[in-house]
Amino acid sequence: MQFTDLKAQYAVLKTSIDARIQRVLDHGQYIMGPEVREMEDALAAHTGAPHCVAVASGTEALLIALMAIGLKPGDEVITTPFTFAATAEVIVLLGGKPVYVDIEPDTCNIDARWIEARITPRTRAIMPVSLYGQVADMDEINVVAARHGLVVIEDAAQSFGATYRDRKSCNLSTIACTSFFPSKPLGCYGDGGALFSNDDSIAQAAREIRVHGQSGRYQHTRVGVGGRMDTLQCAVVLAKLERFGWEIERRKALGERYGRLIRATGAPVQLLAVRPDRDCVWAQYTVMVDDRPRVQAALQAAGIPTAVHYPKPLHHQPAYATDCCPDCNPHSIRAAQRVLSLPMSADLSEADQDRVVQALAAAVAARPA
Ligand SMILES: *Cc1c(COP(=O)(O)O)cnc(C)c1O
Repeated sequence: MQFTDLKAQYAVLKTSIDARIQRVLDHGQYIMGPEVREMEDALAAHTGAPHCVAVASGTEALLIALMAIGLKPGDEVITTPFTFAATAEVIVLLGGKPVYVDIEPDTCNIDARWIEARITPRTRAIMPVSLYGQVADMDEINVVAARHGLVVIEDAAQSFGATYRDRKSCNLSTIACTSFFPSKPLGCYGDGGALFSNDDSIAQAAREIRVHGQSGRYQHTRVGVGGRMDTLQCAVVLAKLERFGWEIERRKALGERYGRLIRATGAPVQLLAVRPDRDCVWAQYTVMVDDRPRVQAALQAAGIPTAVHYPKPLHHQPAYATDCCPDCNPHSIRAAQRVLSLPMSADLSEADQDRVVQALAAAVAARPA
């Protein structure tokens, strides 16, 4: 069994993907070829966001977002400590300081109620993460941000395709950043990402920063990066978009089925809460268990691949600890000890899913050796 079944997806989409790749090989415009704009237009239409800028990766999208708002050394960005390192990495890289607000223990997303208390005169932005594919409390976060003149940047690396109050992830705040890392809900065959914005000048800045800060050829108006997305990777995303609507529905159905089956076993497994006004596209299907190392080993012995997203909150990582006390963010600390991601992809079969649930129930029920 695969943790993420990319081979089955390729088998289904082979004709379109091969044809799209061949077209790029034929026209030969590997950098900023026509597929880049075509993908940007398709993703803007899909999300409803006015602007989409294709970039080299999800991390690059986050970095360019902070550069586009002019983050300066010493500036603070409020974010969650329970996320992939890239979220805080880009803040620190620019000399900024991540200010962590703990998560809700049931959704593992930033607890919007505690954000305002952490705002200081140095705060520039709030960066919520739509973890596992479920958007955080974006309306509440936007209200707080507006009150204090802050920019909200959604780290939507795991939530492309998700819906929140009839709107799409990536179109819920001034800026959003997603990733096309192969295992994300919408993946390419290498690195890729996109920045979305509803602000014309931020989008223009992002377009320039992406190509070394050029406002025209060899006209370097600002400091930028080499942050373009390859034409070939945009071609892969365009081919994958053909089946993406079906894949998202399938992921949501599999997520609901996982929940139903796990609950029916009566096993002591905590499911992630999904709020009624939004959905989860399950970039990872993550549950919470006690004694995770033992459960994970039992699943491995049963031939079930699992993963941990993520084993340490960022305020326990030496590079991103800031001045946060080790005991701060207790919900993040506890989640990091208990989360366990199970196999998930649109092509996961129900038979394999049944096997995962049986093995999980047996693993948590077994007495420690
Ligand atoms: C994957 C991911 C990123 C980084 O995306 P890359 O394309 O791998 O650079 C950033 N934030 C979160 C929450 C992610 O899951």
